Amino acid sequence: METIKIHDKSFQILIPETVIMERVKSLAETLNVIYEGKTLHIICVLNGSFIFTADLVRYLTMPMEIHFVRVSTYGNERVSSGSTREVWGLDSLNISQKSVLIAEDIIDTGFTLEFLRQKIDALRPESIETITFLFKPESFKGTKRPEYTGFNIPDDFVVGYGMDYAQMGRELRAIYQLYED
Ligand code: 5GP
Ligand code: MG
Repeated sequence: METIKIHDKSFQILIPETVIMERVKSLAETLNVIYEGKTLHIICVLNGSFIFTADLVRYLTMPMEIHFVRVSTYGNERVSSGSTREVWGLDSLNISQKSVLIAEDIIDTGFTLEFLRQKIDALRPESIETITFLFKPESFKGTKRPEYTGFNIPDDFVVGYGMDYAQMGRELRAIYQLYED
């Protein structure tokens, strides 16, 4: 099995590029049916979901606006529980009475999404749904699961397809998982 090195860690392939692209197309086909006749307001959660969002929207056929927000976490990014968060980019969002789709790279505990959904809820959209490229069911502690998921994965650290390990690896076309040996 091919392994790659990022900083001090080794990673091995988990989801190849071809499998990713087929899945993204199929997610888009589902959304094309569900949101037919509506204007979709997609909210791309930076930084990690920039590639997933870019690929997904190019297979969508409804009229859309694409917005970008960023959720900051104070302290260790991987320790989600109980930390203080802030959202950038919400002020310029005009989504009252609109159909909103939050596009996430990965949902782990679900705390980031829960926080963001509350903030977006307060802007009174007509509807809010969430699409996530990856979902870790074993570590999920939230109350509301994403409506659409690309892949369920084990509770292991992954990089690639927009997601980083200490800012590196975002450009990788496949998803790689931490390789412990
Ligand atoms: P949460 O635990 O709040 O659902 O996830 C918080 C954030 O942690 C995610 O949006 C993502 O940025 C990051 N994260 C969670 N799991 C992973 C992972 O396996 N790899 C990477 N690169 N980031 C992750
Ligand atoms: Mg994220």
